[in-house]
Amino acid sequence: MCFPFKRGVCAGVVFSCLLAVCAGMFQIRDGHAADAKKVLVIFPENGWSGPAYQMFYNAIKSKFDQNDKMHVTLFGESLDLYLFPNEERERRLVAFLREKYAEARFDLLIPVANSSLDFMLRHRDSLFPGVPMVYCRGVAIGGKGLEHHSDVTGAAATLDVAGTIELARLLQPELKRIAVVAGTGLLDRFLLSTFREAFKGYQGKLELIDLSGLPLDTLLARVSGLPGATVIFYLGLSKDGAGRIFSSAATQKLVSQAANAPLFSIIDAALGHGSVGGRMTQIEVLARKTGEIAGRVLSGDSVASIAPEAISHNPAMFDWRELKRWGIDERLLPPGSIVRFRETSLWGIYRWWVIGAFAFICLQTLLIAVLVNTLIMRKQAEARASSFYQQLAHMSRVATVGQLGQSLAHEINQPLAAIRVNAEVAQKLLEETHPDLAEVRAALGDIVADNKRAQEVIGCVRNLVKNTPLGRARIALNQVATDAVQVMAADAATKGVTVHLQLEAGLPAVVGDSVQLQQVVLNLLLNAVEAVIQNPSPPRLVMVRTAAEAEGRTVSLRVSDNGPRIDPETAQRLFEAFFTTKPKGLGLGLSICRSIAEAHGGALSYASTPGKGAEFWLRVPAGAAEKEPHLPKGPNHGG
Ligand code: ADP
Repeated sequence: MCFPFKRGVCAGVVFSCLLAVCAGMFQIRDGHAADAKKVLVIFPENGWSGPAYQMFYNAIKSKFDQNDKMHVTLFGESLDLYLFPNEERERRLVAFLREKYAEARFDLLIPVANSSLDFMLRHRDSLFPGVPMVYCRGVAIGGKGLEHHSDVTGAAATLDVAGTIELARLLQPELKRIAVVAGTGLLDRFLLSTFREAFKGYQGKLELIDLSGLPLDTLLARVSGLPGATVIFYLGLSKDGAGRIFSSAATQKLVSQAANAPLFSIIDAALGHGSVGGRMTQIEVLARKTGEIAGRVLSGDSVASIAPEAISHNPAMFDWRELKRWGIDERLLPPGSIVRFRETSLWGIYRWWVIGAFAFICLQTLLIAVLVNTLIMRKQAEARASSFYQQLAHMSRVATVGQLGQSLAHEINQPLAAIRVNAEVAQKLLEETHPDLAEVRAALGDIVADNKRAQEVIGCVRNLVKNTPLGRARIALNQVATDAVQVMAADAATKGVTVHLQLEAGLPAVVGDSVQLQQVVLNLLLNAVEAVIQNPSPPRLVMVRTAAEAEGRTVSLRVSDNGPRIDPETAQRLFEAFFTTKPKGLGLGLSICRSIAEAHGGALSYASTPGKGAEFWLRVPAGAAEKEPHLPKGPNHGG
């Protein structure tokens, strides 16, 4: 951190070389070098590389870069004035500079800080005769004889020492002492004199601990043992009491780290280097203002017409980390304070992301809950509509049995009558001396067969009337068709209707509920019979046909009749629940038949041609044993 004097000189030489290289680079980078305006920025010392000078240089350069209409080549010179403390040495420096810039033709000079300005006021005429100057400096001291130069103008910043002392008193109400730190460099002494002037107003109110001009080691020891109710006022320490050269910002950091009291300062470039804060001179604002004036001069405005500008607004600026370090409550800061280097916690950085993600998850969860609830309610409604469907289907079957009453009575009476006749025949045969046993055996055989037939009819009726849950078995559709035709054959016959049964041999089985499929066939048969009896004269024909379709993947059953055609209006509502054209009809038959067909993975369709009557077509997948037929949703509403 500490550089002996000789190393400082070497650094100056190296720095000058670097400047020359940099100057060359600027010229090379500037494609319009021929029209470019040449500007020389003159720094007082090699603190050029320190934060304040760096900030100044970058700000003034960016101001020039923003101007598209003008091409400026920026050169830099460090006078290293601390190397030339007396007239003789200064004369040699001037001779060196004259030699160095003998060929150079500058359009503008920008001396930075009062010491540079004073130097240039003394020697500009011999070094750069007639070249206008735009300075940049702290007000109050320096610039002797400025009023005699009409080709010099510039921007000056205010150093607000009193305002910073007031800030310190605001934040430390018990404040009794101020320990002032300043080095022996040019700027250090300038700042110290400014401070002393301002502190006159606090004599008697605050005690002054003078830590100016000390060797750095002594200074560090002193700041670590300050009495209570003290703050440090750090002005600048580019050179210490032992003559060693430092970067003022680096020294401030060392002092702050060693100190047992908070440190205040007045130039914003020092913020972030251990200063709590202060009423800050804003270097960047000053540099931009200087660049603005320089731009006007380079554009041809007469320097005499541009009045010097003073920047008097020094905002209260603070380093958040130092406020925390000294336990200073942020609520004490004056309104409009600027707090820099605020450390944000992970929560602080990602708070809105976390809140956003959390809100999103909540919303998503809510949506899922609503969807699941809707799904559950739908399933429940479907289930209810399906216990309802079964009841309707059952009701429809009971109604069918009612319609078939006459036919069923006939189907049962016929075998019973045959049984009685055969039994009487057998009795008579047995009364003979030598009964013909073969005849008796034949009569008994007929009795058994008729009994079986009657049982089958009763079983069928029982199944239709019973309200059983859905079954699932392999079913031969030919058998279902045969049973249904048999059940209603007598009824059809009494009505003068002929029922033909045409069954395809070797039909694949279907999987499902035999009672339900029988209900479909019976409904279709009943409708067909009711349609054909409207024919005023025979023939009244109903045809039931089964077949394998789609290479055996589907089994179909068709019921066709030669009744009147279905008119278009009826056709539109054919499968609608409770739609009927019959005086005593329920209007449930076809809608239940379609639901049963769909529950078996199949379909029920119809065709009606004038003069040919109607044809209803049931299609069910063949042998889909593995697929359980799902419960039907309920009767269809609409065809
Ligand atoms: P329902 O027999 O109680 O009226 P359906 O749902 O079985 O109830 O039939 C609805 C209507 O469809 C019947 O009222 C009739 O108008 C018409 N329909 C059904 N089958 C035929 C058919 N084979 N020929 C002409 N119309 C028919």
